[in-house]
Amino acid sequence: MIGAGLAAENFIFALAGAKSGRHSVIQLADDVFYPACSLRSTAVVAARGVSLGHSELGDTLFQGYQRFQKHVLEDNPQGVFVGEQWSGVSRKIPEFKKRYPQNLTQNEIPSLGIELATELCLSSEPCYIIDPALYLGWLKDQSVSLPIERYKDIVINIQRENELWVATSLSGKIFKAENLFLGLGSYQRFWKEFLPVVSKPVHGSYLVYENISWGVKSFSLTLNGHNLIYRSYSNELVIGSTSEEGGHFMASESELREIDQDLRTMLVNKSWPSFEKAKILTGIREKGKGRRPYLESKDRFVAVGGLYKNGFSLALYLAEIARAHLKED
Ligand SMILES: Cc1cc2nc3c(=O)[nH]c(=O)nc-3n(C[C@H](O)[C@H](O)[C@H](O)COP(=O)(O)OP(=O)(O)OC[C@H]3O[C@@H](n4cnc5c(N)ncnc54)[C@H](O)[C@@H]3O)c2cc1C
Repeated sequence: MIGAGLAAENFIFALAGAKSGRHSVIQLADDVFYPACSLRSTAVVAARGVSLGHSELGDTLFQGYQRFQKHVLEDNPQGVFVGEQWSGVSRKIPEFKKRYPQNLTQNEIPSLGIELATELCLSSEPCYIIDPALYLGWLKDQSVSLPIERYKDIVINIQRENELWVATSLSGKIFKAENLFLGLGSYQRFWKEFLPVVSKPVHGSYLVYENISWGVKSFSLTLNGHNLIYRSYSNELVIGSTSEEGGHFMASESELREIDQDLRTMLVNKSWPSFEKAKILTGIREKGKGRRPYLESKDRFVAVGGLYKNGFSLALYLAEIARAHLKED
């Protein structure tokens, strides 16, 4: 198993919860050399008006959302907090109304005590606001039923030898296993010999303001495409995020400034510290063809990727499908 982001940790969670089969797992990942997108994410899960029967991607997103909802209800994972998602627009209103048939046009969000500078067409729905580190930590804790060895190491070579997968690490260790799972996120593109799928890295940056006390309710606003997330559990305000093709970690500060300023203008009765006080975080998403996630499997090898902007809702849904591809004997 290579990777320690959402794809890999949900796969281990799915293995640990499987009624049949006993797997012992060796996991390799290095968050310093290959920073996990899962820990650099605004991390909200909401249905966002998606319903079944319109497109293949829409159906997958819908099923992923439903699976995540069930996961929250049944497993009560740490680091997942229920909140309100409000989406609103001042342009492309017919498209918005089609996506969100239940909408209203007003210049306030009374349940959150927010006043807006102008009227917007708005719609609300429940959402999950996630603390990525806490949630990933919880997933790891659930694997206690499996024999598992975790190594912080960089994999530099993988090959098939005598019916086994053999991985060599930068520290010179050699690991052998019957099955290979890859959950490498945007770094999957460096392993084209295993993965003929086409995917692109898309980097995204966001701002985090600390010590914000806006009450006990966590919420997420998506107003004219800009996101503002209030995490009441950690008193943080998250603003962003940018989205630009490329696999580097340099944030577009000017774009972040613009988003931040637009939101300051829109929310007339809320204020937050100056831009300079914010931390800037960047993650690299993996965008598959047509934004679709992929699952590749053959020869006791499974890879899950292309989670793009929906890793939190898609990872468990895909992990359970991937688990079914693993041969047991
Ligand atoms: C700004 C931003 C906002 C986002 N907002 C949301 C959101 O609101 N909701 C949502 O659902 N999703 C969101 N996402 C997307 C989500 O974070 C990703 O889809 C998800 O984290 C991808 O998980 P992953 O496991 O595929 O990849 P990653 O988390 O990147 O994990 C890859 C793993 O592979 C390891 N690795 C790679 N190569 C090697 C190697 N050679 N040797 C050892 N280890 C290796 C890395 O160390 C890492 O552990 C957002 C992303 C960004 C950047």
